[in-house]
Amino acid sequence: MSEIEASWRDEAACIDAYKRPKNPFQASFSERLSSREKRLAAAKAICATCPVFNECLNYISEHEEVGVWAGMDEDERYELGMPVHADDLTAIKRRADAKQKLEKRDVA
Ligand code: SF4
Repeated sequence: MSEIEASWRDEAACIDAYKRPKNPFQASFSERLSSREKRLAAAKAICATCPVFNECLNYISEHEEVGVWAGMDEDERYELGMPVHADDLTAIKRRADAKQKLEKRDVA
């Protein structure tokens, strides 16, 4: 998580996750899709218990960050027109293309 000058961060349910080697809030290099889904579910489950969810949502509505924030991954924030980090754009578009191809294949 980036440096944030906000006291609400001290109460965040995810604060300990950032001290662990396997942090579900951030992708590892060359993450597989199946691993990504499991990681996102774990992070979003933590968000669901977070006492500062609304403060986090307000923050991420105006800031470009990577990873899961306020129960949303990068793709979901992008779809909602929220800011996303420039480093994530290529991966977001690649996943959207892959998803579209899978949907077309399933229809055919
Ligand atoms: S809502 Fe999720 S990402 Fe935001 S502070 Fe809480 S646990 Fe962390």
